[in-house]
Amino acid sequence: MGARPKLPGHRVVARVTLDVAVRREFDYLVPAELESSVREGTRVKVPFGPREVMGVVTKILDESPHGNLREIIKTVGGQALVTPSILRLVRWIADYYCCAPEIAMKAVLPDAVRKEEEGWRERLFVRALPVHGDLPKLTKRQEDLWTIVEEWRELPLQELVRLAGTTSTTIRKLEDKGLVSIAPQISERDPYGKEHILPSQPLELNAEQATALKSVVDAMERLAKPAGDEAKPEGDSVFLLHGVTGSGKTEVYLQAIAHALGQGQGAIVLVPEISLTPQTVERFKARFSQGPQQTLVAVLHSHLSAGERHDEWHKIRQGRARIVIGARSAVFAPVERLGLVIVDEEHEHSYKQEEAPRYNARDLAVVRGQQEGAAVVLGSATPSMESYHNVQRKKYALLSLTERVDQKNMPLVRVIDMRSAARKEKGISIFSPQLREAILQRLEKNEQVMLFLNRRGWSSSLQCPDCGYVAECPNCSVSLTYHRAAQQLMCHSCGHIEAAPTKCPEQSCGNAAIRFAGLGTEKVEAALAKGFPMAKVKRMDSDTLKRKEDYRRILGDFRTGKIDILLGTQMIAKGLHFPNVTLVGIINADLSLHIPDFRAAERTFQLLTQVAGRAGRGDVEGEVYVQSFTPFHPSIQYARRHDFIGFYEQEIEFRQELRYPPVSRVALLTLRGRSEDRVKFFADHLRKEMDALAGELGDTVVAGPAPAPLLRAENFYRYQVMMRTPNMSALSRKLSARQQALQIPDDIRLIIDIDPMTLS
Ligand code: ADP
Ligand code: ZN
Repeated sequence: MGARPKLPGHRVVARVTLDVAVRREFDYLVPAELESSVREGTRVKVPFGPREVMGVVTKILDESPHGNLREIIKTVGGQALVTPSILRLVRWIADYYCCAPEIAMKAVLPDAVRKEEEGWRERLFVRALPVHGDLPKLTKRQEDLWTIVEEWRELPLQELVRLAGTTSTTIRKLEDKGLVSIAPQISERDPYGKEHILPSQPLELNAEQATALKSVVDAMERLAKPAGDEAKPEGDSVFLLHGVTGSGKTEVYLQAIAHALGQGQGAIVLVPEISLTPQTVERFKARFSQGPQQTLVAVLHSHLSAGERHDEWHKIRQGRARIVIGARSAVFAPVERLGLVIVDEEHEHSYKQEEAPRYNARDLAVVRGQQEGAAVVLGSATPSMESYHNVQRKKYALLSLTERVDQKNMPLVRVIDMRSAARKEKGISIFSPQLREAILQRLEKNEQVMLFLNRRGWSSSLQCPDCGYVAECPNCSVSLTYHRAAQQLMCHSCGHIEAAPTKCPEQSCGNAAIRFAGLGTEKVEAALAKGFPMAKVKRMDSDTLKRKEDYRRILGDFRTGKIDILLGTQMIAKGLHFPNVTLVGIINADLSLHIPDFRAAERTFQLLTQVAGRAGRGDVEGEVYVQSFTPFHPSIQYARRHDFIGFYEQEIEFRQELRYPPVSRVALLTLRGRSEDRVKFFADHLRKEMDALAGELGDTVVAGPAPAPLLRAENFYRYQVMMRTPNMSALSRKLSARQQALQIPDDIRLIIDIDPMTLS
């Protein structure tokens, strides 16, 4: 805006992204009394039609192209809630992921913060004052109230209103009589407040760790220097830290963060939700809870209550917490003077948000790092094809930790050919003789076993061998899974539940010998109980975890040896450290290979490597049994040898041939509606439009329309058009512009997913 002299009567204009879905921004006049408090990022209340709605100022203007502007009603909170750098990220998201500005804005402010009309809420607290002499005369109601306050000594006003079933007017009467004081006080909810954490000291690094840390520190120092004339060297914003589990990545993160704090900067650590355990958080808190670099460590994840999330967020916004550790959405944490962003297990699919805005937090971390001059470290034992490709293209710098800190060998992985096992046993059994024998041996030595199968329930489908009937979901094109304990059939896509039949439901058939095909964790559990009656077995999947604490409790029991065999889905695959686990069995490694997705092999490789990493983390060497019907598949063979680079090199050839990511980028356009014919019709129309668009861009491949791998989900039919391009920014710009003109009718929805993680 500069210092241009204002004309008399000139009014400042604010452009506002409203909270309501209108797909565009609106201009408002700033009333004179608000001129000093309205700036970019300020939360405001504005009139919209007959209503009043909330929004965020995204730009301050001298004038507006629109006439008849209305005035901002009020501002919310003393501080602009959205910092300029986050605002820049919001614009980037709207452009790149083809979404409306209000959708992008919604992602960056937690609900608990955005729903709050008055900003940081200081709660009113009622405190009992010392009574000198006799109590003043009180009514019966006031007396009851006083009894409660006396007992509590101090409590929030709202709480007291609720407890006593009274009004704040009555409580004010006690204040008038000098019995209590009512004063505002910040009440902070600390999700980890109850835990006592012992401080920790930096460890002495081994040579590889020291080299990795030095690279990151050097980059942070270069980036912190005021921008000079010389161009920043290539690969300076982003590092890929490739290190096997237990190679000491976290210690490198901790020391890099310490360096950022030393430079007066803050840091963000992204961790997949499932790995964000109290132990993980504790390691960060323990390091920075004391000493000259003492700072709060804020935690953001989906299990926090709204109040906790609100308070954690404001601790960051106020600059009291300089370190943030959190799941996906923590990439938006309003850390100012950001020096370092770490994305642990960067290959994880949970970094992708599967609803609009469909962003990938790992990719946003890289964008944010570039925008704010922060170093970015992506860490993984099994990097994504995308990130390693960026290393090959010299866009990222590679840092390698090749050995476990404790010098332990990687576990020995044995692949068991289930085809020959099935031939020998005359039928398919759950445990091959080798795995059965290995489990027995470990149990005998009092060591622990983890078994892994990525499918819950009893069996994957219910079939009639006579008429061929298969129980399918009435809403989705998937077969129903049989859950024996509950005697139910369940759809794992939409959650539909029905009672399990005892005979074939087909009218003309009625065969009582219906069969359950495929294998789920529930059935494995039963087989364990039968085959290993002496062992204490626990199953862990989303069926057995009913409450938030269950997860922690079961893992606690396993840690303390109350469980011999832990059986579970991918839930047990990640990041957990159990020194006494010496055997890991993968019941069926092929499951994830058969997913209709170009990433099936990559995902299988990652999963097997992660699961195998659970074995032998203590003093005894670990071993891993992988049961498979396709034992020579590259994903399985490279995982067996812990050979990520070997896997990458053969997999990239396949991606190159078909021009799949990371060689190109994908935009997946899905149309969904209740009428299959209409969805198909508009999918054809969409294809023609996209052909034209691709023609303008050149070098862009359009495929489809094809039925989505899951054609029908929750009674909606879905068809997809896929576009592959070397230049996604150009494509998404064009897509955004074209979206409105497509004229898709109201009963059909178009979902644009840029860089999708799954094709379902
Ligand atoms: P990763 O994050 O790669 O799985 P961690 O950082 O958790 O590895 O390290 C694994 C274990 O080794 C931890 O218990 C950690 O405290 C320890 N450790 C890490 N670095 C060192 C070191 N330089 N010296 C001694 N112990 C270390
Ligand atoms: Zn369903």
